[in-house]
Amino acid sequence: MFAMYKQFVVSLADLRFVSIECQLCKTVVTLDMKDVHELAQKYDNAFCPKDCAGCRRQYDSAIRPNVDAFQKAYHALFAIADRVSFRGEEIESAEPNVLVRASGSKV
Ligand SMILES: [Zn+2]
Repeated sequence: MFAMYKQFVVSLADLRFVSIECQLCKTVVTLDMKDVHELAQKYDNAFCPKDCAGCRRQYDSAIRPNVDAFQKAYHALFAIADRVSFRGEEIESAEPNVLVRASGSKV
């Protein structure tokens, strides 16, 4: 008997947007990592806005610096994006219904 493995794989070249959900009002803001939003850059040259677009409260202090750092890394790697990919953990299964639920590319 053989084991089948499924793994979720995303190429960096396929990533473009990052979404942030406000913990307070649940508004989701989606930012384009390739073309930085002018409103985010207008005030302090950061990528991630300070405040939620829905309730205008400041995002959690962990959000902004880390999303900014991720976007910088995204830009730094973009020239070699076709060689960089992200992978989820392998899912071993002999049950076909579990394989159907797994999404992404088959490895
Ligand atoms: Zn909010």
